[in-house]
Amino acid sequence: MEKGFYKVPQAKNEPVMAYKPGSEERAAVQAQYDKMWSQQVEIPMVINGQRITTGNLERVLPPHDHQQNVGSFHMGTAQHVHDAIEASLNAKEQWENLSWSNRSAIFLKAADLVAGKYRHKINAATMIGQSKTIFQAEIDSACELADFLRFNVQYATEIYDEQPYTGSGEGLWNRVDYRPLEGFTFAITPFNFTAIAGNLTTCMAMMGNTVVWKPSLSQLYSAHVLMEIFEEAGIPPGVINMIITDPQETADIVFKHPDFAGLHFTGSTEVFKNIWQTIGNNIHTYKTYPRIVGETGGKDFIMVHKSAKAKQVATAMTRGAFEFQGQKCSAASRAYIPDNLWPAVKEHLTQQVESIKMGSPREFENFMTAVIHEGSFDKLAKYIDQAKADADAEIVLGGNYDKSKGWFVEPTVIVTTNPKYTTMETELFGPVLTVYVYPAEEYDATLTLVDETSPYALTGALFSADRYALEQGIHALRGCAGNFYVNDKPTGAVVGQQPFGGARASGTNDKAGSKQNLYRWISPRLIKETYDAPTDYTYPFMEK
Ligand code: NAD
Repeated sequence: MEKGFYKVPQAKNEPVMAYKPGSEERAAVQAQYDKMWSQQVEIPMVINGQRITTGNLERVLPPHDHQQNVGSFHMGTAQHVHDAIEASLNAKEQWENLSWSNRSAIFLKAADLVAGKYRHKINAATMIGQSKTIFQAEIDSACELADFLRFNVQYATEIYDEQPYTGSGEGLWNRVDYRPLEGFTFAITPFNFTAIAGNLTTCMAMMGNTVVWKPSLSQLYSAHVLMEIFEEAGIPPGVINMIITDPQETADIVFKHPDFAGLHFTGSTEVFKNIWQTIGNNIHTYKTYPRIVGETGGKDFIMVHKSAKAKQVATAMTRGAFEFQGQKCSAASRAYIPDNLWPAVKEHLTQQVESIKMGSPREFENFMTAVIHEGSFDKLAKYIDQAKADADAEIVLGGNYDKSKGWFVEPTVIVTTNPKYTTMETELFGPVLTVYVYPAEEYDATLTLVDETSPYALTGALFSADRYALEQGIHALRGCAGNFYVNDKPTGAVVGQQPFGGARASGTNDKAGSKQNLYRWISPRLIKETYDAPTDYTYPFMEK
């Protein structure tokens, strides 16, 4: 493996465009959206570089207008899973032996395509297919994706450059050959971030692996654009194979295959735990111990000390809980507010939430749009109805929902007198925030409560103007979050700045967008070379 001969460009975060009224980028993305809205896309699978159609078509449903026909995707079968595995295995040798500089160039070109030529297209696909506002699409599918690609190239280069100690280098040379995993790798991605789909696949490929990728059925429009970008960037046939197949059937085939070498998963906790169990049950089938990386659910908190500033807290709650309809794994969904601050926080929160406009992402004044699908809508409606009926819960903001045109759920705030109320513990993955108002003098006990409520540990925020209280809280909440925010909302991690991942039931905490994640996709071989090998087996201590 050639390494260190070429200096890769220093990665920088892709600047976020503002899309102000009258701006060029605003007009361009709106035109792109309108074009795609009135066309019917046909989304194939891509196996071994070939576009595979089956004629078994299902419609792409824009969540904010599910009757609009924007196109459909070709549903595959078990045979396509087998074909994708075979394509990955066939492509492996040539791909892993391609020099690092040539592999890197592909991903750096992909980043430029995402940030340049394809920016409006991938943003529009994310707006239509996942109902993101332009700002949410921009920070995800354009900027975060470009960042993942560029920073990961830099991190991989740094890894290849890490070599062991060889003393003065006389007589021997120790070196490490960073091999990819042996076999094929499997990426399962969620609906909520186009960038996650782009990252989970490419970061394994970057390290020399070939990939079978099963995207979420609710992210297929932007997944299709991603495959176009990968093709134009020059990712060779068979290196990333996208299949559109039944999740359980796909899992049954992949996890029984002897060459299965690694899983890169992002999605819900229950699905991941079941997968882990399946992999464990099949362990005698595999040629190697598969790597398992999973980033899963969250029940992310905002904990507030009595010294905090009410308006800052309210703003963090509004943005943290309701941007992208609360469908971020990092979204704030439980808040602990001291009773001295609650009246002021509630007033600001009410002002903010009541001013939120909700509707189509095509109308730029909307801060929120619809939730992803009917299943999610029905689940949220059920919890909201339950809160209306429960004596220990009160809905103080929102609480309405309507699925006639799109799956719209109002930003909803529940106040509970029971800190273990179901919506303080269960991930709902929607625009529902539950607040527990605690006696301001019971900071200690409330920190313990935060720690002991819900099985998750993804993100959390602590607000305080008192440095001693911060010190205490940062320590007490050490195990509660993989990404912890002080006086800031718990969402919006930026690649290269806040590597992302959670612990406990929230995942293996392998930090997407960091070197640590890339290490999981390699299997180092240590090579010791001796220049003048001994010819006498005896040692000096044996001399007489
Ligand atoms: P999901 O678990 O429903 O689906 C995720 C992926 O798993 C999809 O591709 C789906 O088709 C697949 N899948 C579903 N059942 C499967 C099975 N039995 N076998 C194999 N694959 C299966 O999740 P979602 O609704 O797409 O995404 C939301 C979830 O993802 C939330 O729980 C959220 O917290 C989590 N998430 C976590 C992070 C993180 O970094 N921790 C980031 C984004 C999303």
